[in-house]
Amino acid sequence: MTRLPQDSSASEHFQQLAEQLGGIARLFGDRGWTPATSSNFSVRLGSDRCAVTISGRDKTRLTAADLMVVDLAGNPDGDYGAARPSAEAGLHLALYRRDPAIGAVLHTHAPNSVLTTRLQPEADSIRLAGYELLKAFAGITTHDTAVEVPVIANRQAIDELAREADRRLDATAGVCWAYLIRDHGVYAWGADLAATLRHLEALDYLLGIELELARLGGRTGRTWQGGQA
Ligand SMILES: [Zn+2]
Repeated sequence: MTRLPQDSSASEHFQQLAEQLGGIARLFGDRGWTPATSSNFSVRLGSDRCAVTISGRDKTRLTAADLMVVDLAGNPDGDYGAARPSAEAGLHLALYRRDPAIGAVLHTHAPNSVLTTRLQPEADSIRLAGYELLKAFAGITTHDTAVEVPVIANRQAIDELAREADRRLDATAGVCWAYLIRDHGVYAWGADLAATLRHLEALDYLLGIELELARLGGRTGRTWQGGQA
């Protein structure tokens, strides 16, 4: 049972965020981005807490009862019985600790993100250049630019994965609102849920174009990592 914030306006805000997240989760479910209870979502609640999905819940029917409030070290804020945050909550928390401006984090196992890392097994980043839709990423105002999306090796030790993500984000120049985990999926973030959804949709669209280009034998070298812009 999710313990709601005591203050009524905070509780109302929490319910609104939960409903927004539920709508996003249904959208992702319809797209086949969250198979078999995979994927996890979170939204920041003030400077030191966030609401994160409870492990093992069906993301296609997400409600406030499928979220738990934790501090940024992962300690539950309230009594949730045997419920645990998503196994990968540590990756969400690392992003919130990293940047106080991050208001939401969405993780899916969207096929385009997994296919991309399978098709480029040696790439440690994916370069997306020259697309009009790059303007969907906050901070980008022209198609005449490139975005490097880090690709991180998958592992089961989430603390190690979080440290590696931090290291890669430190080393990534320019606008970066997402990273891929090889053979696994995508993490995207933004100032709020709407911006994060926009970032994730734009990235999936662009990865889909790149994959289709590869299938058609097109000039993927223009944008794939190691290619010429
Ligand atoms: Zn995952």
